[in-house]
Amino acid sequence: MKIFKFFLDLIAPKKCYSCNKEWHFICEKCFKLEYDFEEICYVCKWKSKKFEIHEPCKKDIYYDKVIILKHYRSNLISKLIKDAKFYNKKEILEEVSYFLYDKFLLNEKIIKLEDYIIISTPSHFLRGLKRWYNTSDLLCREFSKISTINYKNNVLFKIKNTKQQSKMTRKNRLINLQNSFKINKKYIDIIKDKNAIIIDDVISTWTTLNELSNILKQNWVKKIIGLIIASD
Ligand SMILES: [Zn+2]
Ligand SMILES: [Zn+2]
Repeated sequence: MKIFKFFLDLIAPKKCYSCNKEWHFICEKCFKLEYDFEEICYVCKWKSKKFEIHEPCKKDIYYDKVIILKHYRSNLISKLIKDAKFYNKKEILEEVSYFLYDKFLLNEKIIKLEDYIIISTPSHFLRGLKRWYNTSDLLCREFSKISTINYKNNVLFKIKNTKQQSKMTRKNRLINLQNSFKINKKYIDIIKDKNAIIIDDVISTWTTLNELSNILKQNWVKKIIGLIIASD
């Protein structure tokens, strides 16, 4: 039955999840109708212009801003993300990449595109197999096509299969993550002095983002921007 539905989906035209208009899973009009995420500092969750992390909040924090598009509690947004992830509807992510790019331009003053590099969140290859693809990698590829900003796959990689973060306490999360990511040495010259954009659908934990940012900053990356479709 599932396979039958899969083939039906292949031949049926795409329809907007919200208004049923054809050719998109989410049309621009409907996406814009969903509430935007308020501009906040991702550390303290208080207001902050253009999502910048407040200077006093940067103690032990290595990322500089986390730009979030929408609320995960929106039924439409959470359904889109779930279907993209678990029902293999890659086109949803391709469409949303355009909205990510608009939001990025709104919140980041770019002087030269060459100053930026796109980096994906690594997923352990075993966990990657359970799904058909790495969501972050796909978003990064699309974002790179749209923005012409350079993307390097596998700059960071996982060296052990860390347990699912969401069920752990904060202290255990930190222990679990220590030394669980590494940098691919052949990219060090490419990322040096660049501003990194880390793109993902949701942030499951701030600790992963922070750990990745820490490694990048140790390797002379200047500034780190998280770019996320939705958060709670
Ligand atoms: Zn629509
Ligand atoms: Zn803050």
